[in-house]
Amino acid sequence: MNSSGPSRPARSIAIAGGGIIGLSVAWRLAQRGFPVTVYDQSTLGGEASWAGAGMLAPGGEVDEESDLTSAAIASRRMYSSFVAELEQATHSTIDYQECGALELAYSGEELEALERRAAFQATLGIPSKAISAGSIRAFWPRVQTEKLAGARFYPEDGIVNPRQVVTALIAANRSLWVTLVENCPVSCLKLADEGVDLTSGNGVSKYAAVIVAAGAWSGGIQIAGVPQPPASEPVKGHLIGYRQPDQTCTTIIRGTNIYLLQRANGLLLAGASVERVGFEREVNPEITAKLAADAGAVLPHLAETTPTESWTGFRPGSDALHVGPWHSNRLFLAYGHFRNGILLAPWTADVLADTIAASLETR
Ligand SMILES: Cc1cc2nc3c(=O)[nH]c(=O)nc-3n(C[C@H](O)[C@H](O)[C@H](O)COP(=O)(O)OP(=O)(O)OC[C@H]3O[C@@H](n4cnc5c(N)ncnc54)[C@H](O)[C@@H]3O)c2cc1C
Repeated sequence: MNSSGPSRPARSIAIAGGGIIGLSVAWRLAQRGFPVTVYDQSTLGGEASWAGAGMLAPGGEVDEESDLTSAAIASRRMYSSFVAELEQATHSTIDYQECGALELAYSGEELEALERRAAFQATLGIPSKAISAGSIRAFWPRVQTEKLAGARFYPEDGIVNPRQVVTALIAANRSLWVTLVENCPVSCLKLADEGVDLTSGNGVSKYAAVIVAAGAWSGGIQIAGVPQPPASEPVKGHLIGYRQPDQTCTTIIRGTNIYLLQRANGLLLAGASVERVGFEREVNPEITAKLAADAGAVLPHLAETTPTESWTGFRPGSDALHVGPWHSNRLFLAYGHFRNGILLAPWTADVLADTIAASLETR
C-alpha cells in the first residue's frame, strides 16, 4: 500500500503517457509507496486504450517464440487477479469474460496453417481443440458453416472492456494520491546527475526516474543525455460496433479477415483494419463497409442490420516491445505493445515496477 508519508523527491517518478500502460505502471509503483505523476498530452486513456477491442488472446496472436510471446502468456495468466484487485480497489465492475475463442478456417490451406500453429502453441502451454461443423452448429448456431473447412476452440482466450479498465485505473491511482495531469504533453527529457529533467506544458520538473509510455507517440519525445530510444509508429485500426438486444456472440470468433466479440453491455465489435497512414483519425466508410461485409459473412444475422458505431485508434508499433531501462537507471521505456497492449498491461506494470523499485532502492 501507499506509504502516503511526506513527499520524497528523491524517489519521485514521472510517467509520460496515461494510457492503459502508463496508468497500470503508475498504480503498481504507487502501491510500492513511490510518489508518481502521470502526464498525458490529452485525455487519460483516450487513445489506443479507449479504441482497443480488448481481446486477451494469446491463442490468436502467438505464432512464434519471442519475448512478446512469453510476456503475452504470462500476462494472460495474471489478468483475472489484476481485474479482481482493481474491482476491489475501486468498488467497480469490469466486464471481463473467460469466454474462449472459436477460430474458423475456410480452406484446406487455412486449416493446415491453423493446426500447425495450434501444435506449436500446445508446446507453449496454449491449449486448443479441433471442432467439427456439427459442434459449431450446436454450440454457435448463428455462425455460417457452409464454406467451413474446419475450426479450433481456444478455451483460455478471453476479453475485457478496456475502457472500464482505464476508468478503474484512474480511480485506483487517485486513491493512492498519484498526480494525474491531462492536456500537458511531455516534450523533452534530459538526464542529469541525480535524476531526469522533464519538460512539459507545465515547465521543467525534476524526477528521480521517468518512464516513456506514450504509445504510438513515444518516439517523438526528445531525449538528451542518452541515445534517442527506438522509433514508434502509429498503426491505425478501424472497429465497428453493433448494439444488440441480447448476447448473440458468446465467445470471440475469428475468421479469415475479421474477429468478433460481444461486451456485456451488448455492444458486438467487429474488427479490425491495419493501416499505416500516420496519425490520420478519420473513419473511412469503405473500410467500415468491408468490416461489416466480413462480419456478416461469419454471422449472417449481422448482415441484416447496420453497425451503430465505428471508430479508429492508433496501435503503438515499434521494431519490438520495449519494456525496461534505457541506457540508465533513471530512464525507462514502456511502449511497442502494438496489437496486445490491453493484454500486456498487468505484466508490463509488474516488470517495470519491480525493475524501477530495485533500481531506486539501491541508489
Ligand atoms: C483497433 C484496435 C484494436 C485493438 N485491439 C486490441 C485487443 O483486442 N487486445 C489488445 O491487447 N490490444 C488491442 N489493441 C492494442 C492496444 O489498444 C494498445 O496496444 C494499448 O492500448 C497501448 O496502450 P498505451 O498505454 O501504450 O497507449 P495509448 O493508449 O495510446 O496511450 C498513450 C497515451 O500517451 C499520451 N501521450 C502521447 N504523447 C504524449 C506526450 N508527449 N506527453 C504525454 N502524454 C502523451 C496519449 O495522449 C495517450 O493517452 C488494439 C488497438 C487498436 C487501435
